[in-house]
Amino acid sequence: MTDGIGHMRDDASDPDKGRTYTVAVRALCEFTAKQGDLDLRFTPSPSALEGMAGHTTVTSRRAKHYESEVSLSGDYKQLHVRGRADGYDPKRNRVEEIKTFRGDLEKMPDNHRHLHWAQVRIYGWLLCQSRGLAEIEIALVYYDIGTQKETVLVETCTASMLQQYFEEHCEDFIAWAEQEIQHRTVRDAALTSLTFPYADFRQGQRQLAEAVYKSAVAGRCLMAQASTGIGKTIGTIFPLLKASATQKIDKLFFLTAKTSGRALALDAIHLIRQHQPASPLRVLELVARDKSCEHPDKACHGQSCPLAKGFYDRVGQARQAAVRAVMLDQASLRTIALTHQVCPYYLSQELARWSDVVIGDYNYYFDGSAMLYALTTDNQWRISLLIDEAHNLLERARKMYSAELDQQQFRSLRQTAPKSLKGPLDRLHRQWQSLHAEQTNDYQVHAGISSKFLLSLQQVGADIADFIAENPESMHADLQQFYFDALHFTRLAECFGDHSLFDITKTNAQGGRKNGRLCLRNVIPAPFLQKRFTSSHACTLFSATLSPWHFYADTLGMPDNTVWIEVEAPFETRQLSVHIAHTISTRYQDREHSLSAIVDLIARQYSTQAGNYLAFFSSFDYLNKVCTLFVERYPDIPVWQQSRRMAEDERKAFLDRFTPDGKGIGFAVLGGAFAEGIDLPGNRLIGAFIATLGLPQVNEINEQMRYRMQESFGDGYDYMYLYPGLQKVVQAAGRVIRTQQDQGVIHLMDDRFGREKVLDLLPRWWGMGKSEAKEYCQKKMKASHVALIDSHGDLDGYARMPITPH
Ligand code: SF4
Repeated sequence: MTDGIGHMRDDASDPDKGRTYTVAVRALCEFTAKQGDLDLRFTPSPSALEGMAGHTTVTSRRAKHYESEVSLSGDYKQLHVRGRADGYDPKRNRVEEIKTFRGDLEKMPDNHRHLHWAQVRIYGWLLCQSRGLAEIEIALVYYDIGTQKETVLVETCTASMLQQYFEEHCEDFIAWAEQEIQHRTVRDAALTSLTFPYADFRQGQRQLAEAVYKSAVAGRCLMAQASTGIGKTIGTIFPLLKASATQKIDKLFFLTAKTSGRALALDAIHLIRQHQPASPLRVLELVARDKSCEHPDKACHGQSCPLAKGFYDRVGQARQAAVRAVMLDQASLRTIALTHQVCPYYLSQELARWSDVVIGDYNYYFDGSAMLYALTTDNQWRISLLIDEAHNLLERARKMYSAELDQQQFRSLRQTAPKSLKGPLDRLHRQWQSLHAEQTNDYQVHAGISSKFLLSLQQVGADIADFIAENPESMHADLQQFYFDALHFTRLAECFGDHSLFDITKTNAQGGRKNGRLCLRNVIPAPFLQKRFTSSHACTLFSATLSPWHFYADTLGMPDNTVWIEVEAPFETRQLSVHIAHTISTRYQDREHSLSAIVDLIARQYSTQAGNYLAFFSSFDYLNKVCTLFVERYPDIPVWQQSRRMAEDERKAFLDRFTPDGKGIGFAVLGGAFAEGIDLPGNRLIGAFIATLGLPQVNEINEQMRYRMQESFGDGYDYMYLYPGLQKVVQAAGRVIRTQQDQGVIHLMDDRFGREKVLDLLPRWWGMGKSEAKEYCQKKMKASHVALIDSHGDLDGYARMPITPH
């Protein structure tokens, strides 16, 4: 471990010694020496690369005998402290801690300086101890990235002074470390004896739970397709908790695409805890800053926000209260934060370090600067991941690893930017113009990004950072935004490859000029996500629509030894009547002609069995056309329709129309708010009509993505259009049968639904598929060594999950 907050280990050589707690110097100091205000004012600190380059510059200026990156460690009671000092000069007997910065050093907050001194003093003691020194010079070296000058602050300390300092800090931490050791022991014992909260598993649930448990024991990733109604959330959380003690899993991250997924996970854990009320399992819900901020009109620093003022002076008590509370959903965390007058959002970030289960959005683990991933690697945590509704991860990850720069915004920034930035912005402007000067089409994919453009962009980023660092009081929202956009773009440009496209879209600007919008468009997030999966001990992706598995495995970058399971659905074919309208074509050129047939089909079904239906279309325009004609022709049948950007209360009103004795047709769009994640059991919904195969629109961008998919996987059309489209269809149709008592009907309105390849992508229990595509999948599985879990959840002979149902 290099920089972690701490972990436990058993001392096998000395049973009396029991468990020790290892903590990194930086983490120890952050725990014991952080004080004062939270201050997140925008200070353009050096990037990681600039920081590393700065360290190298400083150490290269030192004499030959200078020792860099000196590994040190020391013990105090059951605490093992370790870390790496930046440098030691044995001739001067000076240990150095190097910090890179931008702007005015005088303006660095006192609490930052205080923390830096704490670190170097502890390194000072560890050096004195390891080399038998009676005294040592300790130095903070501040290296200015802009001017490349060093400011060195030095003090001389005796070994005994430093020892006392070290021991005081250890003492401050040790009670916490003891509590953590104790917590882990009790937690693991509780998890080992955990009982399933129901008398029995639902159909398919045991199979899923077994598969999750065994993949955790085997330390492999699992992709699980399991339909609605089997209790996936509890069926995945329970086995992973059960495996945590034996597999020495530090944390479980339950990652979701939507808020509703977080609520389901919290409900499942509440249920598990009801049967083990004394369980110390600490559960944390992470909520976005804009949803948890108490003072949205203020800025995150002590001079503006009362909950940032003195944050570090009070966070210790808040942390203690929070870990005692154990269940930390948004409401209870807020109560604790406000009781201790600290910001709830930043308190939740602190508690991510100390919680056993963290429930939050995908981005906390998967995006480029994800907090949970950084903590995992820094602390060498052994984690397990549950990815809820994992079919969403592809689109979400594409967004995380794409970047755009808009020339129109850049032009207006040039008008208002401070004079001192005019030169660099003009240079960037010239490079930007030359990027698309030769481009004759409005949209074009380019093979690479000009290095001259990137250099100018980096320079502008550095100049803006220097300007803001030197003028922290001035408000430059546009400048800051461009700085962040440029930084994101530059970072992604540095790892540009076959996984992404670089395209320029030209639009008309004033004076007959053209604006060029630059986009680094991620197509295949696999190279970015792969390390996120391999950094976990075990990982399960689950969804009702994860077929075909190779599409998700390829695009998301699942490790080669990933296991796949299709859990038996709890429903029977007789519950659902599926009809394909072979005479209707919803191809773009046929849409106008098929409107009449579609409305008549909906009305016919309604007259056969009046009740609540959902009708799905691929766009709002299409929806409006069908709905208008339907109302014209069948004015007696009630209809209600989804509209663009519906507010929360409007969405609720739409769903409230689906009462058990209600009647009518709700018109909605495929892939929209009513096409997944909503639950209308029984007579609240008795059928669905689905027009189109949900295929993404054929346009220049999608076609370019298709070519890229073709080059990478040899299946461009299916990967770009067919699989994502069918996934939406199956999700939408999945609204109809929610329980084993439901009965319903689905009308698939397009002749292409009758094709064998399409039928094979529909859920098996619908009873529609043939065999070809399944054979194809099997072949692909063999080719990529993906193991298949059998219907008993068996995997390579791993032991079954020791379960005691309640
Ligand atoms: S309450 Fe809001 S403004 Fe205050 S520190 Fe927290 S997030 Fe920032």
